[in-house]
Amino acid sequence: MESIAILGATGSIGKSSLDVISRYPDRFTVYAVTANSSVKKLAQAAKDSGAKVAVIADKELLEALQEELRAAGSTAEALAGSKAIDEIAASPEVDIVIGAIVGAAGISSTFKAAEAGKKLLLANKESVVCGGRILMDTIKASGAVLMPVDSEHNAIFQCLVGATQKARCEANIILTCSGGPFRQRQDLSDVTVEEATHHPNWSMGKKITVDSATLMNKGLEVIEARWLFDFEPERIQVVVHPQSVIHSMVQYADGVIIAQMGAPDMRNTIAYSLGFPERLDAGVEPLNFSKIKTLTFEAPDLKRFPQLGYAYDALKLGGAASIVLNAANEIGVEAFIQGKIGFTDIARLCHAMMYGFQPPTPTNLEEILETDKEARKLAQSWVEGFCDKLEN
Ligand code: NDP
Repeated sequence: MESIAILGATGSIGKSSLDVISRYPDRFTVYAVTANSSVKKLAQAAKDSGAKVAVIADKELLEALQEELRAAGSTAEALAGSKAIDEIAASPEVDIVIGAIVGAAGISSTFKAAEAGKKLLLANKESVVCGGRILMDTIKASGAVLMPVDSEHNAIFQCLVGATQKARCEANIILTCSGGPFRQRQDLSDVTVEEATHHPNWSMGKKITVDSATLMNKGLEVIEARWLFDFEPERIQVVVHPQSVIHSMVQYADGVIIAQMGAPDMRNTIAYSLGFPERLDAGVEPLNFSKIKTLTFEAPDLKRFPQLGYAYDALKLGGAASIVLNAANEIGVEAFIQGKIGFTDIARLCHAMMYGFQPPTPTNLEEILETDKEARKLAQSWVEGFCDKLEN
């Protein structure tokens, strides 16, 4: 029996994880579930999964969580605060940590799970983007096992299984990208929040859905792939594939390409990561090729979607550039969702921040978090200055 902590249990990945785990009661048990502020949903998740602990990041909500747990009929112990989430990630009671918190808020717990040598099923791409080599070294040093949950990276992982070190070193990664909802739209200046928060193929949380619309999501994934698989950026290509059937590919030195395909349902990658090297049924309908009919491919348009290019630039710049880009994007997306800035302003903010703010290269978790905090502060002041300018 393996014991699991689901960090971000009330989100899209968290819910898919609970669904997969519930299919294997003889193999997995849920020890803890966590959330930011959704006490009702968290209490329900604790009740449904039989979790022993429920943690809410917002300390003010401890009492509310206790009440909701009672109301839901759960006997889980209630805890509160980000520190408590970090402690759960490193708890000796836990074998597997599912990192499904959204944004840089997930960095610290990812590191704690990595330091504690856990099996880490990582959806939180922002912690790989910001943690980079430091995170990968932490994983190596502790003997932790990292399974990428992001569908593209999970696909690449599958395409690399069995490859020799030499074959790996000579291969290229081809990341597929749906192109998002605005693939064919020329003018992006008047994109609404409603339009940007609806993805054509995937059902996901709000932040990643907007990232998919700007292609920042693909940019973050390029950075993620660079660190997860230790591939230089020159060996990572992006191809737009609107049907989202091929989740990514690896091209070997002989020109042969191995592609991984499946329905666009995150339960597939979660089940693969939980069961590896076995394959577990995730309850997802297999692909039906007579329904798909065509698979198409095109190059990404970096003019309309410059954030994808900024990710490559961040890798070239090195140092803290990826952390600054990630922070600028998070602040930008939040401001866009709140109606403070326009869709294309997210890219302007990212550009201004990445080239205007170059803090020292962090060397450990504390410095990564400090850099993230500084970058957020600056990005926030850019947003406020921008709003002031609009009002005057
Ligand atoms: P959601 O927005 O649906 O869920 C986010 C989860 O994180 C919620 O449980 C939320 O709690 C919790 N959370 C938010 N802020 C904090 C915080 N400050 N401290 C602690 N917990 C917090 O996101 P997704 O499930 O879509 O995405 C999660 C991660 O997985 C992201 O990094 C995303 O990029 C990645 N990912 C997602 C995919 C998907 O299909 N959704 C695909 C590939 C990667 P609450 O409900 O209380 O707000």
